[in-house]
Amino acid sequence: MARPGEEQILQALKAVKDPDSGKDIVEAGMISGLIVKDGNVGFAIEVDPKRGPQLEPLRKEAEKAAEQVEGVLSVTAVLTAHSEAPAGGAAPKQQSAAPKPGPAQQQAQGAGAARAMVPGVRSIIAVASGKGGVGKSTTATNLALALKAKGLSVGVLDADIYGPSQPRMLGISGRPNSPDGKVLTPLENYGVKCMSMGFLVAEDTPMIWRGPMVQSALQQMLRDVEWGELDVLVVDMPPGTGDAQLTMAQQVPLTGAVIVSTPQDIALIDAKKGLNMFRKVDVPVLGIIENMSVFVCPNCGHESHIFSHGGAKKEAERLGMEFLGEMPLDIAIRETSDGGKPITVSDPESPQAKAYSAIANRVWEKAAALIEAGGARQAPKIVMQ
Ligand code: ADP
Repeated sequence: MARPGEEQILQALKAVKDPDSGKDIVEAGMISGLIVKDGNVGFAIEVDPKRGPQLEPLRKEAEKAAEQVEGVLSVTAVLTAHSEAPAGGAAPKQQSAAPKPGPAQQQAQGAGAARAMVPGVRSIIAVASGKGGVGKSTTATNLALALKAKGLSVGVLDADIYGPSQPRMLGISGRPNSPDGKVLTPLENYGVKCMSMGFLVAEDTPMIWRGPMVQSALQQMLRDVEWGELDVLVVDMPPGTGDAQLTMAQQVPLTGAVIVSTPQDIALIDAKKGLNMFRKVDVPVLGIIENMSVFVCPNCGHESHIFSHGGAKKEAERLGMEFLGEMPLDIAIRETSDGGKPITVSDPESPQAKAYSAIANRVWEKAAALIEAGGARQAPKIVMQ
């Protein structure tokens, strides 16, 4: 069957009228970020944040219109506020173009000072890295599962919207339901709740995100999801330390952050940027984890230090950050996490799982102390140094 292109989708969307201006939503310039790939369609409808809550019917109508096009398999439309992304120096206004604010969002907004808290969620821990491919997602998944194994109630928010890997690593597929049409029920495996853009778009769909879209997607995944009571929500951050990451670090009321780094010096420079980013937004860095530290030959057990070993530990000490531990470059870690059965649950007695568990214990010890000391954190303001 012939697959539709952008033109056909735009043509179909012209049938949808903006109730306020009477113009069609294409002519009114409201469609952005249109992606059409293998019959999967995604786009954003840019609206004034104030109108967001009333425009859920428009969003649905637009999805229906695109679904009518022959060859379309799935359509995901999101409402997004069309104000500019905040420049550094000021805290961003709460974007609320979410499809009908869910109860969590209403509560969060209504409480004034507590606007950025997520009710029911005791602590939020970001897992970040200065660059991609260092094993940030693998570490986030295994830490979340190790925290769960300690008896805590745990959720995972996959904020790596450019390359969501949590669905694959946690072995979850499908789409989240929304029984009331307002809040999404997170999907769950191994007793851990998870929300990810990966549930809403096909894994191989390249996503083009603009500042405001990033913010509203994150806010929706954080606030319009029925997380329930959680001791800890682990956030798998997008790799890097650019504007998108800074905005996220600023928008989510983080208890603390964990930085994952490989031992190469260059990655350490990136890790340093990560540390500075969190310091800028006043988020405590709980420590650094050195990943892919040593290679243990699966045949003979010989240890090779492929990258210079111990660099992260030294650097952490120099920067005044705690060194939380190191994970070996290990084929079992790769196979189990890429196969949706992370080693922490598939082989909990293995040395690798025990190492994750020791790191998780320390992370929780520090997070619990922060919760105790300061109560829940508010959204930090950016302080430029
Ligand atoms: P990131 O989130 O930093 O981009 P991922 O967690 O997706 O990185 O990891 C990249 C790849 O490296 C994945 O295939 C993952 O399974 C593998 N990997 C991560 N950590 C390890 C490790 N300690 N040993 C072996 N493979 C690993």
